[in-house]
Amino acid sequence: LTQLFRPLDMLGMVYRTIRQGLIDMAEMFRLIDTNVEVADKPGAPALVIRKPSVVFEDVVFGYENDRTILNGLSFEVPAGRNYAIVGPSGAGKSTLARLLFRFYDPQHGRILIDGQDIKDVTQASLRAAIGIVPQDSVLFNDTIGYNIGYGRDGATQAEIEAAAKGAALMGLIDRLPKRFDTEVGERGLKLSGGEKQRVAIARTLVKNPPILMLDEATSALDTRTEQDILATLHRIAEHRTSLSIAHRLSTIADADKILVLNEGRLAESGTHGELLRHDGLYAEMWARQAAEAEELDEAAE
Ligand code: ATP
Repeated sequence: LTQLFRPLDMLGMVYRTIRQGLIDMAEMFRLIDTNVEVADKPGAPALVIRKPSVVFEDVVFGYENDRTILNGLSFEVPAGRNYAIVGPSGAGKSTLARLLFRFYDPQHGRILIDGQDIKDVTQASLRAAIGIVPQDSVLFNDTIGYNIGYGRDGATQAEIEAAAKGAALMGLIDRLPKRFDTEVGERGLKLSGGEKQRVAIARTLVKNPPILMLDEATSALDTRTEQDILATLHRIAEHRTSLSIAHRLSTIADADKILVLNEGRLAESGTHGELLRHDGLYAEMWARQAAEAEELDEAAE
């Protein structure tokens, strides 16, 4: 009988792995648009994290042979720091995130987490170490509790509630008669963009990863909601290593360091103040966005 059940057990495990994979894939919707191409090395160990630093070391990468997207990119995010990545459209920001998740391997150079080349460890352990909070979150047609607990197999109700609190979702949940058992999605309650993002934040809190990859382009939200969500994101990033891909520079001005990507290389890096004084690409982008914001304000008056 065990002979019969072992494959079924395996199937259950594979199913859970695929299901987890699917949600990660869905979360990565903006980031990935091709099939997974890499495989674990035989006997690869799990990533062991004591100090979650992230290092890109002379990384060269192109999707196609004749076009290089990252062109010798090097930087280090020390453990516990909150860094932002900015750069013109097409500079390679999302590509960098895909490489950190090992959806592709670089053609040259290395990516290290806590000193371990991500090529040498299992992909499952790598992906368990990184949480993503995307701008468009995917929710299941299931309860709020299920959608939050999805962050990690076996999450307890207490962990789910703590995560909901951390993501400032309790105000909403307390107003619902069935609280965590409220169905969401097409069959149930429709959540606003901001609420969906809070569910994604709670899911990430349940996962409790040492490294966060944030996508701060919260363009779908109104300013007040955006400010609230940003405050929550900053709070959950506080004791973790984080990399925020930012489109609007105003959201990342207080990052520990801003990495400015241009033509596949690190063009500049520094704090907001340092980069403004440097008067280079970042200062130019900042001035342009400030002018655009002013125009919008004038149009609104
Ligand atoms: P944005 O700010 O507009 O989101 P980005 O800095 O995130 O841009 P990437 O999405 O990393 O830029 O894209 C970098 C370059 O790689 C672009 O020129 C893009 O066309 C190209 N690219 C992205 N994905 C693929 C792919 N799957 N196959 C081939 N080329 C791709």
